[in-house]
Amino acid sequence: MADVESFLKDRKESGLFRILHPATSRVSGKIAIDGREYIDLSSNDYLGLSNHPKIIQAQKQALDEFGTSGVASRILSGDSNLHHVLEEKIASFKNKEAGLVLNSGYQANVSIIPALAGKGSAVFSDRLNHASIIDGIMLSQSALFRFRHNDTAHLEELLKKERARFKDALIITESVFSMDGDKASLKELVALKKQYDCKIFVDEAHATGIFGKNGSGVAEESGLSQDIDLIMGTFGKALAGFGAYIATSQRLKEYLINSCRGFIYSTALPPAVIAGNIAALDLIKEEPERRRGLLKLSGHFRNALRDLGFDTRGESQIVPLITKDVTKAVIFSEKLREKGYWVLPIRPPTVPKNAPRLRFSLSYAHSEETLTRLIKDIYETKI
Ligand SMILES: *Cc1c(COP(=O)(O)O)cnc(C)c1O
Repeated sequence: MADVESFLKDRKESGLFRILHPATSRVSGKIAIDGREYIDLSSNDYLGLSNHPKIIQAQKQALDEFGTSGVASRILSGDSNLHHVLEEKIASFKNKEAGLVLNSGYQANVSIIPALAGKGSAVFSDRLNHASIIDGIMLSQSALFRFRHNDTAHLEELLKKERARFKDALIITESVFSMDGDKASLKELVALKKQYDCKIFVDEAHATGIFGKNGSGVAEESGLSQDIDLIMGTFGKALAGFGAYIATSQRLKEYLINSCRGFIYSTALPPAVIAGNIAALDLIKEEPERRRGLLKLSGHFRNALRDLGFDTRGESQIVPLITKDVTKAVIFSEKLREKGYWVLPIRPPTVPKNAPRLRFSLSYAHSEETLTRLIKDIYETKI
């Protein structure tokens, strides 16, 4: 049993103690907490779809037709025609043969990775990959080699040295990284995967709905969908729903239905959630101005921070403001909250020790005026 008391004491003393903040209402871009309304800069509702009438309508209709529950695992009674409609849409959206829906991104990563790799396999993983990827690799019991963030030369060094000892190997990366907001060098990673006979798994949680001509992600944007063996993503972020998907070959889909424990041993998502996800995918096609507007806003905001001398990174709707010291990040976020912005400090162990930060998650629901005012307030708050 963990030493709960000393763990909590330690977390509090080092400024790393986390608490919850229950919202009393939420519409895209805004949040109400403790009777006060804030501009929400911490949500992943990137396209501002979470109150879209078409998604709400689709969910209501499915509730009437199927009721509230997923009722069982999909291999029992939980499967529905809606799941199959969604999976076909995912396959064509991602330009892959097949799609498979999983219950969350966390669950997808902790159960698909162990289905693909095991003892005797090697996994090469970007050092900044999401916790769910790391947990999936741990569960898989394969040998883990972490390469420095976005450093394909380091990856190649590791492949040269280690690949030959293993019967199979998997390279895993996010396409847009959740804390730095930067993109992976997919072209180079794909070249290495071919050269060293590996499979590649790309997590597009933060890119789905935003990058690429059709909004499918960075794989689409880079023209590499066919070269990537497994493209994973989530419905809970830009798509304003819940759940996750994997887009892959028909063979691998069949293999996962028969081997992926998170697919087999978990109740299906409720049909209303699936229907909402279908409606959201249609909206990505129908309302491209959302992703274009979001990327434009994000570019302006990042440039403005840079012009003011802040340490920022990336090229997406996730804009970090790095403070180097935890106390600074905490005080900075408290001051911005006083001014009506809901932005939280991101602390170790979520980010490296020397790079605590404020993480601004921008949304199409934020107006240009809001962001102009925010930039001014950040400047005046500068600590
Ligand atoms: C959010 C996220 C997940 C987890 O997805 P959920 O559906 O929220 O469980 C997985 N990978 C990455 C990179 C994420 O950002």
